[in-house]
Amino acid sequence: MVGGKRTGIIDLHADLPADVIKYRDLGEHSVMERRHLPKLRKGGVTALIAPIWVESRFKPRNAMKRGLRIVDAFLEDLSESTNIVLVKDASALTAAESKGKVAIVLGCEGAEFIDGDLGILRLYRRLGLRAFGFVWNERNALADGMYHKDDDRGLTKLGRQVVEELDDQRILIDLAHIAPKSFWGVMEVAKRPVMVSHGATSVRTSLRNSTDDQLRAVAQSGGVFGIFAVNAGESRDLKAYVEHVMHAVKVAGIEHVALGPDFYDYLFDELKNEDDDHLPAMVGLEDTTKLDAVISELSRRGLSEGEIRMIARDNFLRVFKKVVG
Ligand SMILES: [Zn+2]
Repeated sequence: MVGGKRTGIIDLHADLPADVIKYRDLGEHSVMERRHLPKLRKGGVTALIAPIWVESRFKPRNAMKRGLRIVDAFLEDLSESTNIVLVKDASALTAAESKGKVAIVLGCEGAEFIDGDLGILRLYRRLGLRAFGFVWNERNALADGMYHKDDDRGLTKLGRQVVEELDDQRILIDLAHIAPKSFWGVMEVAKRPVMVSHGATSVRTSLRNSTDDQLRAVAQSGGVFGIFAVNAGESRDLKAYVEHVMHAVKVAGIEHVALGPDFYDYLFDELKNEDDDHLPAMVGLEDTTKLDAVISELSRRGLSEGEIRMIARDNFLRVFKKVVG
């Protein structure tokens, strides 16, 4: 709450499709409305990026089919919802917000599901894909994830072609999880502003730190850097989260910082089976209902209402509008 009026929050990374397909495969309906809408409302989330994230057991062979099944389940679920809507551009996003609905932007986290084919990438765009994360933790045909130990390969030839296609198709490039050499490979080719949907800064040791040079490069592209609620290294609570936000503000400039908390309270069982170690959640920032605490803490640290609104919502919206339209 700022000045008595609630700040709308855009969450740059919420793994909701993974939850939706799980429960729909069990025969349930309206998973978003029943399981997620109340929490999103309580947290003040007006829009979010929901990624296609293909579980490791499907990669690489069955990733394309799994990706399509995830999108199908998610779109089916949204078709049963009156309060949550898929949006494909900035004007649809703000129109949904003004009607009190939650706007969803379809993104992805790991590109295995396009099977190295630009035509399939374009088809996913027709299905609504508007943000594109190249990698999750591991290496794929495009780029290296940060958990991949040997990152000397960097962005591949196919990866460069994908960057050019994303620019042509006006899909927002997401550099979360990407290893440094691949990051700089994308930055050499990309012509539009880029996003890191959920990352951390170097202010504390944590998983997936970006260097200050990377933060500045995102800012120089005109893009936006979302801070995620990682529980690892020295980053284990709300205070650490806000320190990452403030460091990004200092290095990149306030117009290039956003919130991408990556809550996964509903995915613990899935993540236990994956090569991922950021469990459990940050103390004081366990799920989306706690986002108000971030707003309060930013206010306590002296940010104005307008500045908080930039971080919570407006910065992403500016980038989304510029890249996607
Ligand atoms: Zn992630």
